[in-house]
Amino acid sequence: MNPFRQKNKTWAKTIIVVAILGVLACAGAALFILYHRPPTPPAKHVNDIFTVIIDAGHGGRDEGTKYKNVKEKDITLAIARQAEALAPQFGLRVILTRHTDTFLNPVARVGFASTQNADAYVAIHVNELRGYSYVQGMQVYVSNKNPDFESSRLLGSAVSQRLGADFKVSPRLQQRAANIFVLADNLMPSILVECGFITNPTDLKLLTDSTKTLLIAKQILAGVSAYAKHAAIKEYAVQISSPASNTRHHGVMASTPARNKKGHKKANRTA
Ligand SMILES: [Zn+2]
Repeated sequence: MNPFRQKNKTWAKTIIVVAILGVLACAGAALFILYHRPPTPPAKHVNDIFTVIIDAGHGGRDEGTKYKNVKEKDITLAIARQAEALAPQFGLRVILTRHTDTFLNPVARVGFASTQNADAYVAIHVNELRGYSYVQGMQVYVSNKNPDFESSRLLGSAVSQRLGADFKVSPRLQQRAANIFVLADNLMPSILVECGFITNPTDLKLLTDSTKTLLIAKQILAGVSAYAKHAAIKEYAVQISSPASNTRHHGVMASTPARNKKGHKKANRTA
C-alpha cells in the first residue's frame, strides 16, 4: 500500500471526526442557550400601560436647595426611586429621568421625556423659605403654557388630593408667571410637586424619613392612577404667583426671574 495514501486516509478520517465533534458541540451549545436563556417578555405596545415620567429634580453638581447637610437632589431621587419600585402596585409604568446622582439640565429632561412616548410627567422638588421656618406644606405646580394645560390641571388636582390625605397640601394649584420650563415645554400633561419646605422642621423630618417619602411616592402614584383611570377628580383652582414670588429653583426655570425678597415671602406665606 502506498504509504502516502494511507496517511491521507488517516487525515481524512481525523477531519471528519473533528467536523462531527464540532457540529455536535455547536448543537449542544445551541440547546443549552435555548433552554437556559431567560423567558422573553411578551411583546407589547408602548402605550398599553399608562406611562409616567418621574423626574427627580436637580442632581450632580446641581444640589438644589440644601439645609443642615440635607440636599434636595438626594430627597428627590429617593422619592423617584420609591415611586419606580411601587409602580406595578398601581398598574403604571414609571420611567425615571435619572437613577443616580447625575446632572441633567431642563432641556435634557424635556428631550428625554419626549422620546419615551409617555402619558404624563411629574417633576419632584423640595421648597425652601429662609428666615420663615414656620412655612410648611406641599404645593403642586402647573403651567398654562403646556399644550395639555387642562389635563395637567386635572392630574395636578388628583395628585394634590391624594397627597392631602396624609400631608399638608395647598388647596390650590400653583402657577408661576415666569413659566417653569419643564412644565411649559413638555408635550404631555405635566406637573411639578414641591414635597415640602426643607427649612421647616416638620417637613424636614418627613423628607428625611424613608417611610414618609415612601408614602409621598405612593400618594403621587395614587393620584396619577386616578387620573389615568378617569376617576372623578375635583378640579383645583390655579393660583398665579408673580414673577417676584418664585422660590429659588435651580435648573427648573427657563430664565431666572428678578427676585424680590418681599414678594417672595408674601407669596409663600399664603401658600
Ligand atoms: Zn428644586
